[in-house]
Amino acid sequence: MTVLVLGSANADLVVPVPRRPAAGETVLGGDTTVLPGGKGANTAVAAARLGADVSFAGAVGDDRHGELLRRSLASSGVRTEHLRTSERPTGVAYITVTPDGENSIVVAPGANADVTEADVDALTWDGVAVLACSLEVPVPTVAHAVAAAAARGARPLLNLSPVVEVPAETLALLDPLVVNEHEAASLAPSFEALLDLGPRSAVITLGARGAAVVTRDGVVEVAAPPVSAVDTTGAGDAFAGALAAGLATGSSLVDAAAFAARVAALSVTSAGAQPSYPTRAEVDRLKT
Ligand code: ATP
Repeated sequence: MTVLVLGSANADLVVPVPRRPAAGETVLGGDTTVLPGGKGANTAVAAARLGADVSFAGAVGDDRHGELLRRSLASSGVRTEHLRTSERPTGVAYITVTPDGENSIVVAPGANADVTEADVDALTWDGVAVLACSLEVPVPTVAHAVAAAAARGARPLLNLSPVVEVPAETLALLDPLVVNEHEAASLAPSFEALLDLGPRSAVITLGARGAAVVTRDGVVEVAAPPVSAVDTTGAGDAFAGALAAGLATGSSLVDAAAFAARVAALSVTSAGAQPSYPTRAEVDRLKT
């Protein structure tokens, strides 16, 4: 069964700086590293590395960043027949990193802002078990995709990151809503109360503590294995991709979340987002 990921694809331009520039100031940095990123592309790559059949829907520009993203998706086995080339430039995240490891990020959405409801109408749903969305593309597009998935019998999952206002009828179709602990706290006073927003289920990622699964039956916590964390960039996207891959193979929500917590824990043991995502064999080795 297929995981369809609808979301953003960005080129991450990472530059080390001695300190953040003040307004009107210029600071000389080190060499720029250009990495494939964006929450949608990261999620798709994470799911494909685990052996899932994955198709990515989104948009990139007709430029070298778009070529980089197409190459990185294809080399992880992600199908790109629904990745459109837009007239706008590929989305770019300008990331400065100071010696203390803190990031400051400006995202220029570019082609991601051009992923439209017409793109959703062009999707094919044969064999799609799970739709995984996140919110660096326009909300009406995501809302339309979630409704289309539900109508076609695919299970809609939304990583509500960043937190933005989403129509109540979209929230009501989610199974699950996925958020991190901070996003959960901004949405509801308790994990259980997330269901009052309407979703059929919710999954909250808890960093080193793993994740919590909320259904009408209550809250179940799943642990992340203890690892020595090197770089948590893209851990949330690894979790979402692995959760979608687990659900697409018919796992229960709790089993898929436990699997995703292991995958995401492995992803924090090496640098970067997509380069840090493990294969199925690496996850199996961690289990034994
Ligand atoms: P990010 O914004 O860095 O992508 P996030 O805030 O969306 O992450 P987190 O809850 O921090 O999400 O992490 C997602 C998952 O990654 C966790 O559920 C867990 O499985 C794994 N993880 C993150 N940090 C650690 C850690 N220090 N040790 C083990 N696992 C971790």
